[in-house]
Amino acid sequence: MAQEYDLVILGGGTGGYVAAIRASKLGLKTAIVEKRELGGTCLHRGCIPSKALLRSAEVFKQTKEADRYGVSTENPTLNFTKVQERKQSIVDTLHKGVQGLMKKGKIDVYEGFGRILGPSIFSPTAGTISVEMNNGEENEMLIPKNVLVATGSTPKSLPGLEIDGEVVMSSDEALHMKELPESIIIVGGGVIGIEWASMLADFGVKVTVLEYLPHILPTEDEDISREMLKQMKKKGVDIVTSAKVLPDTIEKDTGVKVDAEVDGETVTYEAERMLVSVGRSANVDNIGLENTDIQVENGTIQTNKVYQTKESHIYAIGDVIGGMQLAHVASHEGMIAVEHMADQNPHPMNPEQVPSCIYSNPEVSSVGLTEKAAKEKGFDVKVGKFPFQAIGKALVHGETDGFVKIVADKETEDLLGVHMIGPHVTDMISEAALAQVLDATPWEIAETIHPHPTLSEAIGEAAMAVDGNQIHG
Ligand code: NAD
Repeated sequence: MAQEYDLVILGGGTGGYVAAIRASKLGLKTAIVEKRELGGTCLHRGCIPSKALLRSAEVFKQTKEADRYGVSTENPTLNFTKVQERKQSIVDTLHKGVQGLMKKGKIDVYEGFGRILGPSIFSPTAGTISVEMNNGEENEMLIPKNVLVATGSTPKSLPGLEIDGEVVMSSDEALHMKELPESIIIVGGGVIGIEWASMLADFGVKVTVLEYLPHILPTEDEDISREMLKQMKKKGVDIVTSAKVLPDTIEKDTGVKVDAEVDGETVTYEAERMLVSVGRSANVDNIGLENTDIQVENGTIQTNKVYQTKESHIYAIGDVIGGMQLAHVASHEGMIAVEHMADQNPHPMNPEQVPSCIYSNPEVSSVGLTEKAAKEKGFDVKVGKFPFQAIGKALVHGETDGFVKIVADKETEDLLGVHMIGPHVTDMISEAALAQVLDATPWEIAETIHPHPTLSEAIGEAAMAVDGNQIHG
């Protein structure tokens, strides 16, 4: 029998489930269709499990260096089975939490694969959802007033370097490694590549990163990218930039061997495993888009600013629409879409107000324009930069690498961007994000009293440094 809903959401990841909760609070009768587990990539194959592994790597590294803090430890060893168990128990706890939230919000969850049907006996417009149930029972038919497509993305592979899940892995398989390899080649020095390079190097794995472009983290501010290169080299990571991997040359056996063209020469790289981290593709296949007028360009669903597709009652959010593929972006987009369905007149999201974070050691975080992007947009910029080396709390922590960089407009004094690399900067970026939302100037950030001793003092100092007024540097 067909079920009627105000909203059916395809995909129960961070975008989909947060949208469902918002919808339920707005009084919409809501259902989610999820083919795997609620929580999606972020909870099961992305943010949470990778950060749990990164934390273990950090603790291992710090324990080995404990002597620096006056703490004696003898020959600390790693129990990777326990590392994986800890990761899984965090994921399981949060998964239960999301399931509980669905119950609390009276949100129906259909475990199966949902497809959008064209106009049918159920509805004169496209949008009826047919769910192929995981338990093999007859398909469910859901008739919604609105649909939200939140089907996410999957790791890309490269032709010739197809993921076999054993020797050549994507981050999906890497997260489930039972044992650490002795060595690994990481193809792609973007966010995933650098988080894994940092983690595996801290676990003691020999890491080589092959990045196609001249810089790792190519979308970050160039100063950040340069500092990360320095920090990765300090960890012993071999970073090769401007490296053109030649997939035809791949040889796999118990390990993997591949050639890359570097500075006009062919160099052979060899390791026990390979991780391919060259971006993620939107999940647009088999979900029935051909039954609708929804436009797909460059593999992503096209929407307006409130996330309506060409079918105005079908919305799409998160990785499936491209843009910034971040969990917090997906959930924010989901809330905007749902509020629009409920006639709430939501405020559109401004990408320059979206913080982004990289959880390597050291961490990276940023919001707004890079110095280069600001100049390309025609701003006459001024820059303030302040090192953690001069911050008391960073010395106390024993982590003094990195800096805070603030980019401002000389003419209007407006804040244009904030970029940080160093200890706990992913927890500090929200101040800069709030400053962006409030259209603050560096002067206003400097007027904000930063408690002493804290790492956040580096933000206040960098804000003062925009006009050369920093105190401790
Ligand atoms: P990415 O776009 O961040 O980086 C891909 C890198 O691969 C780029 O540096 C690119 O130049 C390089 N590359 C592309 N083709 C190559 C080739 N043939 N040989 C060598 N290098 C090549 O993508 P990602 O790291 O796979 O991450 C995917 C998405 O997931 C990103 O949008 C990212 O922001 C998101 N993500 C975010 C977080 C976080 O917020 N901490 C963590 C993981 C992933």
